[in-house]
Amino acid sequence: MLKKNDEFNLKITGYTSEGGGVGKFDGQAVFVENTAIGDEILCHIIKAKNTYAIGKAMKIIKPSKSRIEPECEAFKSCGGCSFAHIKYEEELKAKEQKVIDAFKRIGGISPEFAPIIPSLETTRYRNKAQYPVRRENGILNIGFYAKKSHRVIDGGDCLLQPVEFTEIIEIFRKWINDNNITVYSENTNLGLLRHIYLRKAFATGEIMVCVVINGKTLPFYEILLEELKSISGFKTLVLNVNRKNTNVVLGDECISLYGDGYITDILCGVKVKISPLSFYQVNRNGAERLYNKAAEYAGLTGEEDILDLYCGTGTIGLSMAQKVKSLIGVEIIPEAIDDAKINAELNNIKNARFICGDASLAAEKLKDEGITPQVIILDPPRKGCAEELLKTVARINPQKIVYVSCDPATLARDCARLLDLGYAVNEVTPVDMFPRTSHVESVALLTQSN
Ligand code: SAH
Repeated sequence: MLKKNDEFNLKITGYTSEGGGVGKFDGQAVFVENTAIGDEILCHIIKAKNTYAIGKAMKIIKPSKSRIEPECEAFKSCGGCSFAHIKYEEELKAKEQKVIDAFKRIGGISPEFAPIIPSLETTRYRNKAQYPVRRENGILNIGFYAKKSHRVIDGGDCLLQPVEFTEIIEIFRKWINDNNITVYSENTNLGLLRHIYLRKAFATGEIMVCVVINGKTLPFYEILLEELKSISGFKTLVLNVNRKNTNVVLGDECISLYGDGYITDILCGVKVKISPLSFYQVNRNGAERLYNKAAEYAGLTGEEDILDLYCGTGTIGLSMAQKVKSLIGVEIIPEAIDDAKINAELNNIKNARFICGDASLAAEKLKDEGITPQVIILDPPRKGCAEELLKTVARINPQKIVYVSCDPATLARDCARLLDLGYAVNEVTPVDMFPRTSHVESVALLTQSN
């Protein structure tokens, strides 16, 4: 049994689903962050449990062939990235394995897997960032949360974000200091500025600046606005009001101070309106690859009726609208549904309708109305689909289910449930939408098994 402060040489042989390294000592699993398969390290145990231990690499005795020098200075302290220290090909292998392992361990199934689809870019691919603003011992920090904590470390130039975001943060830093703008404290629930929330539409270059505040008005905003106008692509300045003592970033109310309060991107040829509260994939080029794979799995001929459940602003369904007879999208957030309807209009798509409501209830209702889509698309949040919904989907009886997922664990669970409901998993394709982080997207094709 390992004990705290034990020290020994350890070879790293695998990755955890969070992207850390794992090795075995005397048959016991030892987890060590920021290591790579093939590393031989001097491991110091910092926590020992009955079935596993957590170690720290005191020294890398022999580095793995996959190691690279992280380009980002903040890598060790920042909680954002897990894979900045290994080659991208190795990261892709780790992510493929994560999906395969989830199906085996959680779903108890081993379907066919297509090779992972890589991201077009591995840096500066994100189109969205929410920077917490805090003051610690008088020092202003705008950046990211440290690993497993709510301490804000100053972000510097995050390599996952567009360069303009870094420029905008510097404008804010100067404006906050020059105008003595107060900064929010989680301890007291006092102070005005909570988060700086930025979005960029990569296809059009448009940029949205949203300031999340513990109040209703922003003092000296004209000065800020003048500076923001120097940023290429800057389109709109919006306030988001969040007065709650919570770690949820956004409140419900948005007030536009300049511009229309939204930006427009183009995804798979479809114009997409993006407002502060609506969901939009953070890696646009990755999303195109994902949606193209989903369309390939759907195998559309122009004759299909499709149902897009958890549709957000409608982007997956709308990207297929030209190739189907009809499209119904379902989504629980009213603002997202409003945007989905606007997106259909913007693109002159007339064969789509959108329903606001819970996916399970809406699917049940649509079934009672007698709809018979040949293809159902599922794209739930991390927690996956409600069991009720899967039963309803199976009773609607589509030929194909295309399941898009940002969490392999719940995807595997739901695929196993669909197996019991008369569907077979034809193929799963992992898609890397989030290079350098441990997250991986997947899309699965299921068809009727009888
Ligand atoms: N398909 C979209 C959005 C996927 S994210 C895209 O690719 O852009 C998942 C979406 O599910 C979010 O928009 C979220 O608001 C929505 N959602 C969460 N719970 C839901 C529920 N119970 N019923 C319907 N939609 C839900």
